Amino acid sequence: METKTYKISNDAIHLKEIKEAAAVIREGGLVAFPTETVYGLGADALRPEAARQIYQAKGRPSDNPLIVHISRFEDLERVAREIPKQAVRLADAFWPGPLTMIVHKNTSVPYATTGGLDTVAVRMPSHPVALALIQESGCLIAAPSANLSGRPSPTLAAHVAEDLAGRIPLILDGGEVGIGIESTIVDLTEEIPMILRPGYITKEMLEKVLGKVSVDPGILDPDALEKPKAPGMKYRHYAPKAELTIVEGAQDAVVAQINSLTKALQETGKRVGVIGTDETAAAYCGDLILSIGAREDEDAIARHLYRILREFDEAEMDVIYSESFAALGIGQAVMNRLLKAAGHQVLVV
Ligand code: AMP
Ligand code: MG
Repeated sequence: METKTYKISNDAIHLKEIKEAAAVIREGGLVAFPTETVYGLGADALRPEAARQIYQAKGRPSDNPLIVHISRFEDLERVAREIPKQAVRLADAFWPGPLTMIVHKNTSVPYATTGGLDTVAVRMPSHPVALALIQESGCLIAAPSANLSGRPSPTLAAHVAEDLAGRIPLILDGGEVGIGIESTIVDLTEEIPMILRPGYITKEMLEKVLGKVSVDPGILDPDALEKPKAPGMKYRHYAPKAELTIVEGAQDAVVAQINSLTKALQETGKRVGVIGTDETAAAYCGDLILSIGAREDEDAIARHLYRILREFDEAEMDVIYSESFAALGIGQAVMNRLLKAAGHQVLVV
């Protein structure tokens, strides 16, 4: 299949391209499109055969449910059995935006979309191209991240093409995404709302609106007995091909430790990559050193993480060392993804 790509700037109206993409969705096909978090791979959420195509194109396990994207709050009624009061408050505070809510599904939502669950994940994105596509199609759009299963989520249209060219008919290229890490997922079917995946909207932000909020124990501790409640969090996502270790400690000690480990490995013929920051990158002696951004710029660190993991894959490193980042604000989500990519290997110096 030939994959078309249309460049769409976020401030001009590209009605012709949006209309063509909307028609593909209405006919049950797939379109990759930008959202403010990462690129999504969309299909009509209420048609099981359309949803199944998403799993096929991504090679995604069929028990890993999809997030349904809506463009108006009223559309929550089209998928939810009932609308919890908390959903109204959260939508007021954070929609459109990078927050996904889990609610009980109604009978219109096929099990193909929810991976067999009786709950459904719903989000209203804020990206103008995503909103225009949903509105113009008249559909609700099921969309997971537009990468092959197991690869880092795409933050550029070029990443989507790398993974899915030849497998999908259309990519809408809206440039680099703003946030770069997937949405926060909060489960409203629990007595106390529970975060199933950390993201840009933090626990503290949710607690200001809801009062007490818990965090799924299955995502904090890899050895916890509980399995993560979001089926997707159990898969070894975001895993670069090289073995990744996070080195944590005072800045100078981290640089010295990574350099001494690097030299030892280079002597055995291994190629070593390093994830540093603007402050430290020049001090490393690895074969490929990439700065993720300035240490105090949490937003830049989040936006660059997945692109950097892809660059290391392309450069065929054997081993990667990464600095650790402050787990404040979106830093919590960054560390959650980085720890997963590292299979929780952390060296404290
Ligand atoms: P992605 O869109 O690729 O970031 O993946 C969607 C994430 O949402 C995965 O981790 C899913 O497991 C999670 N998810 C979607 N629907 C549900 C649901 N009904 N209950 C729990 N987790 C869900
Ligand atoms: Mg994904």
